[in-house]
Amino acid sequence: MFEELSEVEEVVKKCEKCNLCTNRTNAVFGEGNVDAEVMFIGEGPGADEDAEGLPFVGKAGKLMNNAFIGIGINRENIYIANIVKCRPPNNRTPLKEEANACLDYLRNQVMIIRPKIIVLLGNTALKNILGEEYGITSTRGKWIDKKGIKYMPTFHPAALLRDESKKIDFWNDLELVKREAEVNSYKI
Ligand code: URA
Ligand code: SF4
Repeated sequence: MFEELSEVEEVVKKCEKCNLCTNRTNAVFGEGNVDAEVMFIGEGPGADEDAEGLPFVGKAGKLMNNAFIGIGINRENIYIANIVKCRPPNNRTPLKEEANACLDYLRNQVMIIRPKIIVLLGNTALKNILGEEYGITSTRGKWIDKKGIKYMPTFHPAALLRDESKKIDFWNDLELVKREAEVNSYKI
């Protein structure tokens, strides 16, 4: 385990622990405030993220940014990372062995940042962080406390692009996060 995000990032950029390294343009380490009290975890880079090396810069990211602006969440106050750091082919869901190979990096990021709240975006984040027994449809919108961290599972923004009706739930879930942060005077 490393003490500094930059040290973890250096290792990730050269990582060949799983097959996803073979097709990447850039590993997408994560982005945001090292002192963030609220962290967001997605699934893995898409084409735009792979090209730019930054998380949530494509269509799903733009949708999330718009929700952030509407609700009053400042991307500079939070930290955003993914379960896998390299893009899966055709944006398929990361395989269990790929997620397992990559998860130590995310654990190291969480250990350094020490967020109070973690928003889990979609099933891949939810299942890999809290366990396979969880499902996003039944779990979203409810706080789950584990080892001093409050988890809020919600839909992945890409799911909103496929199904507009999920937007209201996503928005409401982020409002819950905003309120909880404000009540506790967490940066958001
Ligand atoms: N989808 C994700 O899960 N993560 C990104 O960084 C972009 C899209
Ligand atoms: Fe390494 Fe993660 Fe990329 Fe796999 S996805 S090569 S484990 S950084």
